[in-house]
Amino acid sequence: MMLDCAIIGGGPAGLTAGLYATRGGLRNVTLFEMGLPGGQITQSSEIENYPGFFDHTKTGMDFMDLWQKQCFHFGLKHEMKKVEKVSKTGEHFTVTLEGGSTVEAMTVIVCTGSVPKRAGFKGEDTYFGKGVSTCATCDGFFYKNKPVTVLGGGDTALEEAYYLSNICSEVYVVHRSDTFRAAPPTLERAKRKENIHLITNAVIEEAIGDARGLSGVNVKKSDGTVERMDNTGLFVFVGQTVRNDVLKDEKGTFICETNERGQVIVDLSMRTSVSGLFAAGDIRIEAPKQVVSAAGDGSIAALQVISYLQEKA
Ligand code: FAD
Ligand code: NAP
Repeated sequence: MMLDCAIIGGGPAGLTAGLYATRGGLRNVTLFEMGLPGGQITQSSEIENYPGFFDHTKTGMDFMDLWQKQCFHFGLKHEMKKVEKVSKTGEHFTVTLEGGSTVEAMTVIVCTGSVPKRAGFKGEDTYFGKGVSTCATCDGFFYKNKPVTVLGGGDTALEEAYYLSNICSEVYVVHRSDTFRAAPPTLERAKRKENIHLITNAVIEEAIGDARGLSGVNVKKSDGTVERMDNTGLFVFVGQTVRNDVLKDEKGTFICETNERGQVIVDLSMRTSVSGLFAAGDIRIEAPKQVVSAAGDGSIAALQVISYLQEKA
């Protein structure tokens, strides 16, 4: 059977695409999600910046639970399968699943997201989502008027440190070298901000805490001394991995245009450079990396799929 639309990835972008595609009248729409639908936000202990949802007793997992129920109610089918690759043959697409089976589809929306890299220090995984964060927009407010630690020396670390400096009392940026990858104006702006403190030639040796979450970090300097900082928020910005493997062919070449960071180039309608192939959410260029914007992208992509199929009919 030929699918009207194959959606790859069941985070906020993919689920919203599924909701709009099915409510928009498409009958054969399947969501391929290698785990439980919900996406990255299911790792978060709370979410307070999604408009209309304001309940501190609910986790990211609770929040996403209703999304999938709503989608499946309107006829979205779900296959718990990892997609290996997408290829275009003539007018339609072949989606290759883990194990080698294939599915044909008229259109594809890729919503596989991106994942922040982990730095690898002791305790990072233990306190991830419990004090260790990779999202200042999401979690900065939890540290209003409190001191926080930031790890990294690239554009993201220094831009996010600046964002945090307007919310938090003090921002301690720990960077393993004394040269920064961040653009000079970004670095200079951070240096001018009185509550940003750059700690160079230093690494986070360990994140410390207990069942309530992170209570501080041990920072190791180049002379071997270790200093304890009792900040309960630690923001790790050491790069991003875009989950774009499904868009590579056998030779490792992307089937659609991407930028130098591997993010998929889309227009305002979430169209990629390949006709019938759309990308939505954190995988795309300029993604704000927020649930609300990923959901918005998913709705746009699905509406475009419906128009695309109507034009082909
Ligand atoms: P994702 O949520 O990353 O979903 C992608 C999905 O694709 C995943 O479920 C993955 O399993 C699946 N997938 C990947 N590859 C394949 C494959 N090959 N085959 C099948 N399935 C695949 N945003 C906010 O707005 N507010 C917050 O408070 C907030 N807090 C956050 C807290 C944490 C701890 C994290 C990690 C993120 C947070 N974010 C927050 C960011 C938000 O979660 C993301 O911006 C959003 O989830 C992106 O949605 P997406 O659908 O593009 O991708
Ligand atoms: P990045 O440029 O790769 O920087 C990552 C930083 O983390 C580096 O300072 C690196 O240190 C450090 N780091 C890496 N692994 C580490 C580890 N295990 N432990 C401790 N520190 C570690 O990543 P990014 O800042 O996310 O930026 C990614 C790309 O997006 C860059 O090209 C950047 O210019 C671009 N970007 C642009 C903008 C903008 O234009 N406004 C905004 C954000 C990002 P070293 O320097 O020592 O390697």
